[in-house]
This record gives sequence, C-alpha cells and structure tokens, in this order.
Amino acid sequence: MEKIRSFLTKETPKAGKNAPVYYRRALAVSEELLGLYFLIHFFLFPWKTGGWELFPLLMLFGVGACEYSVRRRNVLLGFLLFGALCMLWCGWYVRQVGWGCGGQHFLLPLLLLCFFNIFMPPWGKIGCFLALIGYRMLLFSYSQSNDPVFALTTDAGLAFQTLNSTTLFVLMASVCTILSNSIQETERQLRLDNQELSREAETDPLTGLPNRRFLIGQMQRYLAGGAREPFCAAIADIDFFKHVNDTYGHPCGDYALSELASLFRQAGLGRYQCARWGGEEFCFFLPGVNLDEAGTLMNDLAIAVSEHPFSFEGNDFTLTITIGVAEYDFLSSLETLLDEADKKLYMGKNNGRNQVVM
Ligand code: GH3
Ligand code: MG
Ligand code: MG
Repeated sequence: MEKIRSFLTKETPKAGKNAPVYYRRALAVSEELLGLYFLIHFFLFPWKTGGWELFPLLMLFGVGACEYSVRRRNVLLGFLLFGALCMLWCGWYVRQVGWGCGGQHFLLPLLLLCFFNIFMPPWGKIGCFLALIGYRMLLFSYSQSNDPVFALTTDAGLAFQTLNSTTLFVLMASVCTILSNSIQETERQLRLDNQELSREAETDPLTGLPNRRFLIGQMQRYLAGGAREPFCAAIADIDFFKHVNDTYGHPCGDYALSELASLFRQAGLGRYQCARWGGEEFCFFLPGVNLDEAGTLMNDLAIAVSEHPFSFEGNDFTLTITIGVAEYDFLSSLETLLDEADKKLYMGKNNGRNQVVM
C-alpha cells in the first residue's frame, strides 16, 4: 500500500533539455527501428488500393518528426509522437490484415517506454496503461467482428508475422539493453563515487593519513565487534611546532607534518593505526596491546622522531613529540579514554615535553 502511495505521489522532473541520455537513446533507437520497419513495408508489401500504399510512408515521416524532437531534446514530444504513431499503426494494421499477423503487439514497446519515462507523472503512466489495454481490447473485438481488408495467403501471413515478430523482438531487446546497461552503469558509478567520497571524508588531505572521524569509527567498530583484548589510545603533539612555522614559514610546517606522517606510517607496520587528530596532533589506536606494550612502542616512536633529520629548502632541523597513552578499561566510554590520553599528553607538556606519559 505504501509503495503504491509513494508511486502515485512521486515528484516528476520537468521535461526540459536535461533528459537522461539513456532514455533519449532508447527512444531514438526505437524510432530508427520503427522507421526501417515502415520502409520495408513501403517497398515489400504493396497495398495497392486507394492510395493506402502511402500509409507506411506517412508513418516514416512521423518517425522523422519524432527523431527530430528527440534530437532537439524534446523528449516528451518525441515520446507522445511515438505513442501516436504506434497506436495509429496498430489500428491500421489490424484493419488491413487482421489480428493474426501480430501488428497489435507494437503497443508493448510503447508501454515499456511509457513506464521508463521519468517526465510522465504517475497518473499519466496509469492513464497510458489503461488506454493501451482498452485500445488493444477494442482492436481485438473489431478484428473479431470485421473481416480484414486484405485476405492474406498463408505465405504472406507468415512473412508479415516474421517481420513483425523480428522487429518487435529486436526493438524490445534494444530498449531493454540500453535501459539495463544504463542502470547498471549508473549504479556502478554511484558506488565508485560513494567510495571515493567516503575515502575523502575520512582522509586528511595534507598528510594522507586517516582523520579523526575514521579513527573514532575504527575504535567503535573494534568495540562493537565484541573484542575483549586490551587496547590503548595515544595522542601525540609536536613540541614547539609554532616555532617551526614562525622560523621557517608555514610551507615548512606543512612539510614537517607530512614527513612525520610518513614516519608514523612506516614505524606502525600494522601494530597501530595512526590518524591526524587535528593541527599538529596525531592519535594512535593500538588494538590488542596493553599499557606497558603501548608505552614501549610510543617511546620507540618518540625516539625515532627525535632522531629524524628534517630538511626543507635548505633548512635543517629536528623535532620532538610528547605523547599521552591510556588503556581502555572496558567500563567507560571511548571519550573518557581519549580524554585520559589528552590529559596525560598535557601532563607531559607541563613536565618539560619530549616524553611519553602512561
Ligand atoms: P606545544 O609544545 O605546547 O605544543 O607548542 P606548539 O607551538 O606546538 O603549540 P601551539 O598550539 O601553540 O601551536 C601549534 C601550531 O601548529 C600553531 C599552528 O599554526 C600550527 N599548525 C596547526 N596545523 C597546522 C598545519 O596544518 N600546517 C602548519 N604549517 N602549521 C599548523
Ligand atoms: Mg604542539
Ligand atoms: Mg597542539
């Protein structure tokens, strides 16, 4: 019930120049195939009475008008003309050669294109659906009570049936292929774009490290996974980083942050996940590691940083970091753990910096 209501109240975009390419292509291909079909009728099946032989030619001109509308991106007009042509042709065909040659089936591609038409409001689609069923029934009852104008021989009937079936199947298959390919391609592109967007949303552009959002998500996932192993969080802050910016310039500060990020990445080697926490702070998530082990790891890291030579545009310098480490107690929240690491970091800052506080 809900689905029916949402279908009926669905907003329909305005039929402007921004019609989706796939729909225009499906419509254009249908029209081209139909044009070819009318041309074959004009040449191969002479209805040599009363000027009726010109009827397929007239249809051909109609197809030309549809094609022109679609090429001018007037998709709605193109579709309406296409609909009128199909209905006219089906009626004429049933009257000329009867029900047995399958000409009436050309209402089916119309139904398909009607329901894929995003510019048609839901009531329009339902109206179209009812009109097509009604029209088909009308043609059927007409064919039952009236003899066709042409009594076809068995061979001619077979030829007509073959031409109609082939055209109809090729037309339906082409439209379905275009539409389904487009849906698959759109879905694939959407998935790729989403992946790219979420990767960008979780990556720090300067250092290429994951950002705070990603690391918190990872810790939450770790906890939600029911892990009962100890784990630690550590927050590191560069000592006197303002001095680097003030002395060597902001670009040099940026370089130092990137260089430090590479060092953290290399030293991590799967033992921790590092993220840029903000400014010149970094956060480490150490799963399956207790406080002592985390302290040792962070000490080694702090030493590696202090021994690392930084060089930017002829300026050589070194850096030190202060780190606060905290172990999760499986009782309090993640925020409490990160708060504790932060407090320890500031204890280290107050105690003279370049140290690890556990
Ligand atoms: P402390 O030892 O107390 O941490 O001293 P500090 O100078 O590192 O601390 P403070 O918070 O005073 O300065 C941090 C500096 O980090 C200030 C800010 O300009 C710099 N900073 C933050 N983010 C960036 C960045 O992306 N690039 C650069 N170049 N500098 C940054
Ligand atoms: Mg600092
Ligand atoms: Mg800071």
